[in-house]
Amino acid sequence: LLTTKDEDTISSIITGLSAGSVSIIRLSGTEAVPIALKAFRPGGRYRLGWAPASHRVYYGTAVDGDEAVLDEVLLLVMLSPRSYTAEDVVEFHCHGGGVCAARVQRALIEAGARPAKPGEFTLRAFLNGRLDLAQAESVSELVGARTAAAADSALAGLRGGVGGAVSDMRRQCLELLAELEARLDFDEDLPLIDVPALKAQIEAIQAGIEQALRTARAGSLLRRGLQVAIVGRPNVGKSSLLNAWTNSERAIVTEIAGTTRDVLEAQLSVGGVPVTLLDTAGIRDSTDVVERIGVERSQAAAAAADVVIMVVDGAEGWTDADSEIYRSLWGDGPGSSGCRVRGPALLVANKDDLRAAGPAGSGATASTDEQAPLPLPVLARETFSATVRTSASRRKGLESLDTALLALAGAPQLADSGGVSWAVNERQAEALVRSHEALMRLSESVGADLPLDFWTIDLRAALLALGEVSGDEVAEEVLDNVFSRFCIGK
Ligand code: GDP
Ligand code: ZN
Repeated sequence: LLTTKDEDTISSIITGLSAGSVSIIRLSGTEAVPIALKAFRPGGRYRLGWAPASHRVYYGTAVDGDEAVLDEVLLLVMLSPRSYTAEDVVEFHCHGGGVCAARVQRALIEAGARPAKPGEFTLRAFLNGRLDLAQAESVSELVGARTAAAADSALAGLRGGVGGAVSDMRRQCLELLAELEARLDFDEDLPLIDVPALKAQIEAIQAGIEQALRTARAGSLLRRGLQVAIVGRPNVGKSSLLNAWTNSERAIVTEIAGTTRDVLEAQLSVGGVPVTLLDTAGIRDSTDVVERIGVERSQAAAAAADVVIMVVDGAEGWTDADSEIYRSLWGDGPGSSGCRVRGPALLVANKDDLRAAGPAGSGATASTDEQAPLPLPVLARETFSATVRTSASRRKGLESLDTALLALAGAPQLADSGGVSWAVNERQAEALVRSHEALMRLSESVGADLPLDFWTIDLRAALLALGEVSGDEVAEEVLDNVFSRFCIGK
């Protein structure tokens, strides 16, 4: 099992595999220094019996068992307990590009190290008490963060946010348990339990759990992001909108209708939420096989998306062709049998610049309100939670689009999580819900005047679930599950 604490000294390339100027290899374990010294020769005059001091950097060469030079390196020694894993840690800073690091890693394995498994350095930091489980999870989240807001949230978790809040709740539960158990043991000698005070204490702990749970939505948005499918008939400006929104030129913009045949993806950050935009092929009935595959793909993308954005030509208004596309996705409306889209939807009326100018020669001036509603057929009125008017070519209306998307995704809670910037993940939320339920049962047992033993059973269940968040009480399978999702070298 991954979580069995062994005495091996482990080694791994801990920097990314793509080209960079430096690659780092990390060793951790009781033999880290002796193994490193088999593969390191200090620069300058070699002194017999030389040993590196902790937290210093040495220049030298990495060598294999035959003293062949593998790279010029920097050696960094961090002796226990002042290291990431709390064990002896040695790092080789090699030249980047993969070859040098791979050779040095091989030399270290030959010298007696074992290749580290994914997450094993962080697992050791956890097993050695350097990090609690919630902090360890934050490490993985920090490495995987796609936006600055996601990184900030992970950092707040790493700095003890979740674990700190939960250990407060655990401490309160433990105090209650001690009080109850004392009465089980020597009930004659102690004053009666103040039931109203006990209930107030339970409610206070529950309120803390509820506050932590309120961060879960924000956490999931920051970690997983949103998949947004952009649908609409050809030529309304879907690809242009994607380009304008992401400030990139990844999607193909062309004057010819129906050329966006594949689903194109773009990544952007909307208010800190990582958003994946899927620009789907123009949906329409087609005899062209390639195009029809595109149609199917956009239906699939819309069905899988968290949010669907339907784009129409805001100058032309809603057309029969739009109704046809609408029907291919929503059938006779949300909840109808032909409806493929499950998530919420926004309507974008693009080419607003043309509407504002009015048809050539008409002299008409239209409202420039970006939220002005578009006359819709009855069928579609209930589907879209908001209409945003944009001009992809003039990059107008994009901020309204940001706001509307975040509102639709429930992201305002991001700012409304009680001033805490950390957020619980799904595993933690699930355990918190269980502890909340146990406290609920405790309240019922107290209310029903059941014997004290029943109270302590519920309280213990709450404690156990809270302990799973911090990792104080956690099954090995849970640990395996958490750490196996880490990347190698972390
Ligand atoms: P798609 O087929 O829906 O992806 O549409 P495209 O993004 O390929 O755009 C079709 C045409 O409309 C192109 O010629 C774009 O330059 C033009 N277009 C896109 N957005 C706007 C806009 O906001 N205003 C104006 N005037 N033209 C636009
Ligand atoms: Zn397109």
